[in-house]
Amino acid sequence: MAYHKLLQRQLKKYCTDEMMEQKAFTQFIDAVSDSYNSFDRDKELSDHAFVITEQEFSAINRQLKDEFEIKKKSIRELSTALSNLKTETTDFQAGNENDDILEIVSLINQEIDKRKAAELQLVAAKEEAEKASLAKSEFLSIMSHEIRTPLNAVIGMGHLLLRDNPRPDQLGNLKALKTSAHNLLVLINDILDFNKIEAGKLDFEEAVFSVRKLVTDIVTANTNAAEEHENRILLQMAENLPENFIGDSVRLGQVLNNLVSNAVKFTQCGVVTITVQLLQLEGDKAVLNFSIKDTGVGIAAEKLSNIFLPFTQASSAITRQFGGTGLGLAITKRILNLLQSDITVESLPGKGSSFGFNLQLKTTQQAIISFDNEQSPEFDLRGKRILLVEDTLFNVMFATQLLEGWNAKTEVADNGLEAVNMLQKGQYDLVLMDLQMPVMDGYTATIKIREFNSSIPIIALTASATNNVREKVMIAGMQDYVTKPFNPDDFYLKLKKYL
Ligand code: ADP
Repeated sequence: MAYHKLLQRQLKKYCTDEMMEQKAFTQFIDAVSDSYNSFDRDKELSDHAFVITEQEFSAINRQLKDEFEIKKKSIRELSTALSNLKTETTDFQAGNENDDILEIVSLINQEIDKRKAAELQLVAAKEEAEKASLAKSEFLSIMSHEIRTPLNAVIGMGHLLLRDNPRPDQLGNLKALKTSAHNLLVLINDILDFNKIEAGKLDFEEAVFSVRKLVTDIVTANTNAAEEHENRILLQMAENLPENFIGDSVRLGQVLNNLVSNAVKFTQCGVVTITVQLLQLEGDKAVLNFSIKDTGVGIAAEKLSNIFLPFTQASSAITRQFGGTGLGLAITKRILNLLQSDITVESLPGKGSSFGFNLQLKTTQQAIISFDNEQSPEFDLRGKRILLVEDTLFNVMFATQLLEGWNAKTEVADNGLEAVNMLQKGQYDLVLMDLQMPVMDGYTATIKIREFNSSIPIIALTASATNNVREKVMIAGMQDYVTKPFNPDDFYLKLKKYL
């Protein structure tokens, strides 16, 4: 057996041959040689292991160093950010980076507490504001009802007096009465609309309508005023305009009417040109441009941006000279914004103004549902029996005179309970139902009537233009509603629809 090299050398040096022949001795030497070999192996292993650990150690060290640098940089940046963010109440100075981390944590905690407190305050303030806004809306709704009810009588009586061949010397006064009452109604409607828009409660209807007809109707509606101002209205309608569109014709009409009536109002002996162009038509998507140009007084450059603010007019002399409240353009701009459009204006004092906007509308092949064709020219409701449920004397007078003027047979109930009793006994073709009445209101009366008569048309008469009246009226079981003060022609069409 070959001994370990070192042991071999030592055996040669110190041991004799006799010694090497003794079995016990050679056994011992075998064991020593094994130990030498195993020591070498262990040493080799441990040397190798130490080399690996040293490499790993330096890698970890490098990583730690990098991480430490990143941490230092982050703390530096965090403390710079925090000192920039310093509010009046927090006092943070960027300094020693080792201490900073604790200071930063405590500062962030302070900030979180402060933000939470501020958030609570904001929530409370928001709730307060919402309560106030609700109170404002309710107040307006009630006021509008209170004002509209007598106004209905004023407009109605004016209409009847003008209809009944007044003496020539009375005619001027009656016209002034009619105009003032109409202006008051426009004002109330404008305030209510503005309130609705501000509260985010203006809904847009989707129905089929003709832009051509809408614009023509607006021209007709402004013809009298234009004649009074000795103005000519020119209408330039694109020939290739599709016939029917889907959208809210009432709101678009409101926008156009505001612009046209302003153009007519602020122009004397001039021309108002209304242009409708088709800018784009792809599939059922159309883009239209509406422009309303006048040769009137114009607006000074520095006033141009103000005219869209609520209750703002270009000069304080305007109200005296032209009337108005300064709400029209504010409403116009807001309605257009809600329709993803905007209004543009160009004007030169003394030369005239030009207002315009583009509007995206869907075209449709659907026909317009119209009751216009059903309107008999002589307004006749002969043979129809109508139950008018209304407690306000003047409104009763107006409605009965109108209805009787159309030859309808009219009976009156003072309140809901009386109406229920009358319907149980008599035969009627239609019920006109006021909503707010003493003894029994219109909603309750309708529910009671529906228990024994499910078919008779019931139309609500309401002075309230806010608060989902339409929905409430339908839920109670009525078919439709008319908003007071009602325009006799619209009122007639509604009646005709259900009779
Ligand atoms: P109002 O007509 O009730 O005063 P508007 O909001 O419609 O309120 O208009 C605001 C103001 O803008 C008007 O008072 C007027 O000074 C100015 N304005 C609007 N349209 C015209 C126009 N076509 N020509 C001259 N000024 C106009």
